[in-house]
Amino acid sequence: AKGHGRNGMRFFNQQMQADISARAELAAGLRQAILNNELLLHFQPQLEREKGIVGAEVLLRWQHPEQGMISPARFIPVAESTGQILQIGHWVLEQSCLQLAEWARFPDTTHWYLAVNISARQLHSTNFVADVTRALQQSGAAPDKLVLELTESQLLQDVDTVIAKMQQLTNLGVRFSLDDFGTGYSSLSYLKLLPLQQLKIDHSFVRDLLTDPNDKAIVKTIMALGQSLELAVIAEGVESEAQYRKLLQLGCKQFQGYFFGKPQPLESFVLSAKVQSSI
Ligand code: C2E
Ligand code: CA
Ligand code: CA
Ligand code: CA
Repeated sequence: AKGHGRNGMRFFNQQMQADISARAELAAGLRQAILNNELLLHFQPQLEREKGIVGAEVLLRWQHPEQGMISPARFIPVAESTGQILQIGHWVLEQSCLQLAEWARFPDTTHWYLAVNISARQLHSTNFVADVTRALQQSGAAPDKLVLELTESQLLQDVDTVIAKMQQLTNLGVRFSLDDFGTGYSSLSYLKLLPLQQLKIDHSFVRDLLTDPNDKAIVKTIMALGQSLELAVIAEGVESEAQYRKLLQLGCKQFQGYFFGKPQPLESFVLSAKVQSSI
């Protein structure tokens, strides 16, 4: 059993070594990706009951010249640990604001908003408020068309500073949504302190909503919470009509998921959104 343990340890070290070099390779590739314009944005529709498409979540993609499309679930954590996320995140913000300013010019797209994911590093950087403000001003985008998605874990650190930053941006009209809601540890009293406009029900509760009574209870609780704190609630990861119907029944009014549309390049997003809203 001892020999086995030692082999296990060696295997573990080899595995760790492989992980470390894979991450280093990814980080180096990412530097090139930024220089070579290999990063791009996809847009996933967000819908509101009786209104149709009201906006989109911006989701980052890496089109690698050899490896094809690399998932953000793989490269964002690396970019987060190297600090590259600051540069990347700022680019996402700038592009999103430019897109909003473009859409504002046409009557059929003028009301669309964009929800942008903000990483912990960005939020906690001293330049965060100035960076967002500058992206808005330089593009001419309306602040009330920009939604910033934060996760609960990002909000546990430096709470007072974070609240002050959120308040400054809220004063401009920017809105905040709490992503992956229900998977973290927010206490109710704490939620009340945050200048939030929206809770985003994590897709893990939507997935088995029809079969798992616990998930149904959780979704119900989040809906009630939203109501008492006067927060909008959006469900993410809606994949079927049955899930959509159940969510409607539970009082949910905002939706995102494959059932309504996958994340897609700008042109196809705009095209399908215009078709949908003209029906
Ligand atoms: P997230 O913010 O929770 O984004 C939602 C994820 O769920 C996206 O994965 C989306 O493609 C996927 N999704 C949407 N609808 C459905 C559905 O109906 N079913 C299922 N199973 N999945 C669905 P994606 O695009 O791979 O992004 C993964 C994560 O990467 C995001 O999770 C977010 O945390 C991060 N990310 C993406 N873009 C950015 C970015 O620009 N900045 C930062 N900081 N993080 C980003
Ligand atoms: Ca998100
Ligand atoms: Ca999410
Ligand atoms: Ca479950």
